[in-house]
Amino acid sequence: MQMVEFEFRNELIKEDFSLNYCYQCGTCSSSCPVALVTEGEYNPRKIIEQSLLGLKDLLIKDQKPNIWLCCTCQMCVEECPQNVFLTEIFERIKNRIVSEGEPYPETFKTQAISVIENGLAIPLTQPIIRRREQLELPKVESADINEIKKLLEATDFKKKIKILEVSK
Ligand code: SF4
Ligand code: SF4
Repeated sequence: MQMVEFEFRNELIKEDFSLNYCYQCGTCSSSCPVALVTEGEYNPRKIIEQSLLGLKDLLIKDQKPNIWLCCTCQMCVEECPQNVFLTEIFERIKNRIVSEGEPYPETFKTQAISVIENGLAIPLTQPIIRRREQLELPKVESADINEIKKLLEATDFKKKIKILEVSK
């Protein structure tokens, strides 16, 4: 049986009050491409419902539905009739998973290391640059890596994401 944790629920609402406006219409799930390809196994409406009910263990420990499958495409946010900021709420839950030491996908750690090293989650490789030129997309300005490093150090980023050994 799942425990209802009111404190957790209230914290989520306090962090993003739009959570309170959800009336469970399911528009988010019907517009979500990940819900479509997983045949409903991934379900943003359910994540919001569990957040409203304070079902912390399901969200943080069991991770059912698997919140990491969200690709942050923002379709659900665009379509939600109640202007619920689903992706912002999901971000808070993901942060909570990491800060509570629960497992999270290696690929996110790899991206975090890339941000530390390159200032970008996906570094610009020559093939990416060439393809962007072919598609006549604007040049991506590179971030000031030294400033990013300073910010990450000031916010104790490595410790927060549980990466203790990172190549310089
Ligand atoms: S679309 Fe908005 S109101 Fe409807 S279930 Fe999803 S979050 Fe709730
Ligand atoms: S942002 Fe995430 S939950 Fe929303 S539609 Fe895209 S994949 Fe689905």
